[in-house]
Amino acid sequence: MDLRGKTVVITGAAGGIGAALAHRFAAEGATGLVLADLDATAVDALAQSINRGLTRSVTCDVTDPAQVAALVDVAHREFGPVDLFCSNAGITTGTGLDTTDEAWGRAWAVNVHAHVVAARAVLPSMVERGAGYLLQTCSAAGLLTAVGDAPYAVTKHAAVGFAEWLSMTYGDRGIKVSALCPQGVRTPMLDHGLARGHAGAQVTAAAGEVLTPEQVADAVVEGLAAERFLILPHPEVATYHQRKA
Ligand code: NAD
Repeated sequence: MDLRGKTVVITGAAGGIGAALAHRFAAEGATGLVLADLDATAVDALAQSINRGLTRSVTCDVTDPAQVAALVDVAHREFGPVDLFCSNAGITTGTGLDTTDEAWGRAWAVNVHAHVVAARAVLPSMVERGAGYLLQTCSAAGLLTAVGDAPYAVTKHAAVGFAEWLSMTYGDRGIKVSALCPQGVRTPMLDHGLARGHAGAQVTAAAGEVLTPEQVADAVVEGLAAERFLILPHPEVATYHQRKA
């Protein structure tokens, strides 16, 4: 996908990876960037730091279908149909079997069900046009042995499974779906996890090179051009698992 002139939506945009994607997509020539996050102040500051003319910031909880539908409406109204939807918001909750049901529920809602909500909101118009790209941020934790925090590893495996299902089901209708599966990335998520002694963050940091969000954005731009099913900005993961839709 050539990003020039494209309309892009990014969720979890105020976080480390989301913000790097936003800056990189703007540099690649996207002309409509709709940046969504729970954190209204941070996402608004991000939009301002890029360019008010080509960005809109939207406060949105990705688990709420009405808010996600409204987000897609903003993109349509302001910039036209969505060419690329980056379902990127994600959270870490809990650790092992002592994780509360409430924390398991939040992990499922944000790390898995939000991708379903996004697909429902954005796919009909993409199918109608016979073109569109859905990028789901999953994780290496959704491909490799499930170590670290159980809710994170389990939900990221499910997210990869859903991306694969979407890719197989909608691929012949002109829709591309990719799962972004980085290993460790230096963002607030990783830093907070390390500060709180979370097993998942410790495993991630110990597993090898920790990437910058900008390196992840580089891999995404390269992956969108190659239209791969799995975008794997880490050599260990790349050799472990690489497939094409
Ligand atoms: P981050 O914590 O910096 O950013 C996550 C963003 O998502 C935050 O701005 C947060 O406000 C937002 N968010 C959380 N819940 C939301 C909700 N319900 N609705 C809308 N926004 C919400 O983390 P990051 O590292 O940039 O993570 C981005 C994605 O990358 C996540 O899906 C994460 O699981 C994945 N990931 C991160 C790493 C890593 O090492 N940092 C590795 C692999 C995958």
